[in-house]
Amino acid sequence: MVGKIAILAFPAARGKPQGGMNHLGPWRRGLRELCRSLIEVLLPPTCGACGQSSGGPLCGLCTAHLQRIRPPWCPRCAEPLLLAGDRCRADHRTLTGLAFARAPFAYAGTGGALVRRWKLDGDPVAAATLGRAMAIAVAADCLGPWRKALLVAVPLHAERRRQRGFDQAEWLARDLARRLGLEYLPGALRRTRRTMPQGDPRVLSRSRNVAGAFATARARDLADRRVVLIDDVRTSGATARECAQVLRAAGVSQVALLTACRS
Ligand SMILES: [Zn+2]
Ligand SMILES: [Zn+2]
Repeated sequence: MVGKIAILAFPAARGKPQGGMNHLGPWRRGLRELCRSLIEVLLPPTCGACGQSSGGPLCGLCTAHLQRIRPPWCPRCAEPLLLAGDRCRADHRTLTGLAFARAPFAYAGTGGALVRRWKLDGDPVAAATLGRAMAIAVAADCLGPWRKALLVAVPLHAERRRQRGFDQAEWLARDLARRLGLEYLPGALRRTRRTMPQGDPRVLSRSRNVAGAFATARARDLADRRVVLIDDVRTSGATARECAQVLRAAGVSQVALLTACRS
């Protein structure tokens, strides 16, 4: 309930897609910051992963069970390496069509709890914890040719979005646009059909489950741009590969993937 109230206080998290924070007028930005501060003052600090009262964004127990993925890591897939420059033994075919992938947390333990609490309860503490960590994980990559990259969210199907009341990846993309100073392009991808959740045991082939499930709009805005795809969890990479293929067919020059967790 606390989460739902807080989400209502962030108008851009709901309703009609808009541009990133960079496009808001100064008075509106100020109003949003005021809302954030009021929420922080009015609501008692709770843990973003378990909801218990805590002195910070995570309680001691959840901090102990948080599996961070940190450099040194493979520059392509972010698999942790003993030393920078070591050979990565991960299968990079899972990232076909993607320049690189980053995620700050493993899904096991607290990372998954944060994502579920954000997705299912709309807890803003969980969202802010994920957004902050995602921004740190990719900040070093958003330089050089990627400094003008567009952020594009992996979308929910319209019906699922209506049921949930918000789209968790879209909200993260807006938050990341503000944190990283990049542009979020709303409505760049849409789901053309409902798919089973990729983690559902009835899904025998994750690639087939999402094949042909996405389409692009705004081709003119996407042409010759680099895109950082935003999603909550990367499992097999099938969803990101499918989105990357569709984006590249629309003229995007390179696609990278940023998720909160990876399994
Ligand atoms: Zn906790
Ligand atoms: Zn690798």
